[in-house]
Amino acid sequence: MMYVNAAVCLSVLLLVIGLSVGHNVINFKGSDALNSAPLIDGHNDLAYNLYDLLNNNLDRFNFTKNLTDDKVWGTNVCNTCNTDLPRLRKGKVGAQFWAAYVDCASQYKDAVPLTMKQIDVIKRLVAKYPNDMQFVTEAKNIEEAWKNGKIASLIGVEGGHSMDSSLAILRLYYELGVRYMTLTHMCNTPWADASIVNDNSVHNLTNFGEAVIYEMNRLGMLVDLSHVSHNVMRHTLSITKAPIIFSHSSAFSVCHNYRNVPDDVLLMVKANNGVVMVNFYSGFVNCNSSRKATIHDVVDHINYIRNLIGADHVGIGADFDGVLRMPEGLEDVSKYPDLFDLIFESNVEPRWTKEELEKLAGRNLIRVFQAVENVRDTLAKTESPRQDIIDVRDVSEAEVISHIQPGLCQTSKEWDDIRNNSTSRQ
Ligand SMILES: [Zn+2]
Repeated sequence: MMYVNAAVCLSVLLLVIGLSVGHNVINFKGSDALNSAPLIDGHNDLAYNLYDLLNNNLDRFNFTKNLTDDKVWGTNVCNTCNTDLPRLRKGKVGAQFWAAYVDCASQYKDAVPLTMKQIDVIKRLVAKYPNDMQFVTEAKNIEEAWKNGKIASLIGVEGGHSMDSSLAILRLYYELGVRYMTLTHMCNTPWADASIVNDNSVHNLTNFGEAVIYEMNRLGMLVDLSHVSHNVMRHTLSITKAPIIFSHSSAFSVCHNYRNVPDDVLLMVKANNGVVMVNFYSGFVNCNSSRKATIHDVVDHINYIRNLIGADHVGIGADFDGVLRMPEGLEDVSKYPDLFDLIFESNVEPRWTKEELEKLAGRNLIRVFQAVENVRDTLAKTESPRQDIIDVRDVSEAEVISHIQPGLCQTSKEWDDIRNNSTSRQ
């Protein structure tokens, strides 16, 4: 009798487990992954809009309001305005890298103080909304903040022009809490080429550019390869000691735009254990000018990268508030759950698993960030801050190419010889 009872109990138990597993599989939606893992977006330019529209005066900004119809921030009056707290919450955003971006026109001029202002405004914004946001500088704190109901907020400097060719400035940005730097924006720096320069590029990554990568590795700052030329991507991946990120780039094979990542580089990212966080900008995800971009184009880019190099190396870096056109279905920061639903429903083999969707959402970025911190901790035992100084002739030549009078804005002693003699190399 005991055996019979045990058998009955076992059958009932198996039935219940079977039903519940079946139930979960049937009812699972892709966006459910955003309840079990933080959605980490690699790039949002809200801070630039705060500068552009309000000169960073936060008294005139109400982040807790849905700004869709606002007379300054509304969809009808501002093409690049996609972000506020209610929509971030609806979008289930768990963490955000806020871009400290300043225009390329500031290179060789006031790029450093302007960047400092953007770092400051991001910190002030986060501090002003402590119930919703938490400033984070370590990988382990992202998930912790998210579990406490906060949007983990991190800073990325977008563009190497912001460090004014100085490792001292780079180090101080790290001290201020900056956790990635995009090596270039749309302009070349004296040490790295931006896209669209490609195979016939002028400098690629110079010796000083290599020193920048090594110092970022030593500091524990994520190297971001969005915006750089394809050859700088390749060069950096061949020398970096830590995994890299693309904070907001898509797949070149799907849309031939040089801001996107070509297949050979994607394969290098896989070997490097890095992550490509897919950009949503209409111009990068759809190269067919006869139609408008849709959410399905973004699904295609994510699936393409996942199928080529695996679900461990793809993430999300929408570029909200930074671009003029977003695809139909991804108009603002509230739309991420729709994207995850569609990715899970998409017709790819093998189908996405819940675990893979969690990696796409944010776990891949956390893994890369932790690996970068581990490299930092290992290098701390053997390496000191690097003291490389850029050859000012490189800067001088870059200024000529940028149609700026060489040395006009430089007073440092390294420039004396150049100003007194010649701007050309011996
Ligand atoms: Zn960008």
